[in-house]
Parts: sequence; C-alpha cells; structure tokens
Amino acid sequence: MSDLSDLYQEVILDHNRRPRNFGVLAGATRHARGFNPLCGDKLVLYLKIDGDRIADVSFEGSGCAISKASASLMTDAIKGGTVADASALFERFHQMVTTPIDRPVDEASVGKLAVLAGVREFPARVKCASLAWHTLKAALAGADQPVKTE
Ligand code: ZN
Repeated sequence: MSDLSDLYQEVILDHNRRPRNFGVLAGATRHARGFNPLCGDKLVLYLKIDGDRIADVSFEGSGCAISKASASLMTDAIKGGTVADASALFERFHQMVTTPIDRPVDEASVGKLAVLAGVREFPARVKCASLAWHTLKAALAGADQPVKTE
C-alpha cells in the first residue's frame, strides 16, 4: 500500500470510531432511512432545512466501517451548505465511486471525500459508501419510502 492509501485508511477508521454528527437531531425537518441488504448497513439521516440551507444534519445507525465513515464525512461536508451544493456534491461523489479503477478521478472536486475513492476497487463496497448519499437524496426529496441500495 502507498503512503497515501494508508493515510486514507486512517481517516476512514477515525470516522468509523468517532463518527461526526452522530445521533438523533432535535428539530429535524426531514429524515430518511437507508438500508444496504448486501452488507447489512442501516442508517437514519436527519436534516434541518432552513430556506435553501442545510442548517444541521445528523445520522444514526449501524454498519460497516465504510458506511459509517462515509455518512460521517458526508454530514461534515454538507452541514451549513446549501441544498444545491449538497446535490452537486452527491453527483461528484457518485461520479468518483463509479469511475472504473483504471481511470483517474478528480479527487480535488470532492475534498475530504476523496478518502473513499479506493472503494472503486470493490463493487460491493461502493454500495456501502453510497448508502448515506442515496439516503440524503431521499431526505431532500421528502421521500417516505426507505432507501435500498439493491
Ligand atoms: Zn457496508
């Protein structure tokens, strides 16, 4: 493994051990559930939308290190930003994790989320990394149905 992937690994493990924005959000205006049956990852995402801004965000749930770290990194990345920014970041993140492993990805366009670029090597892990994002999309759309990655 290169030094860079070691560093990325560290960030993922850190977010798994100490997830940011973890727990029920008081005053949430939206929430959505996500489930990845392939791995057993489950999460509930809470949003507090104020106008066009994501004033606050949190999540709770259980799952593998990748799913938890991805949800933690995502909440950090979208908190305080606009709904439009979050949707745009979803697109860039999705683009990154679905780019074939032999093609370069634009890591700069996703900021800290670049630590998850390595999941491209493991198609099953892409679902773990994407779960929080699909759940975010559902929460923003106000969908009632739980999100499934299958
Ligand atoms: Zn998983």
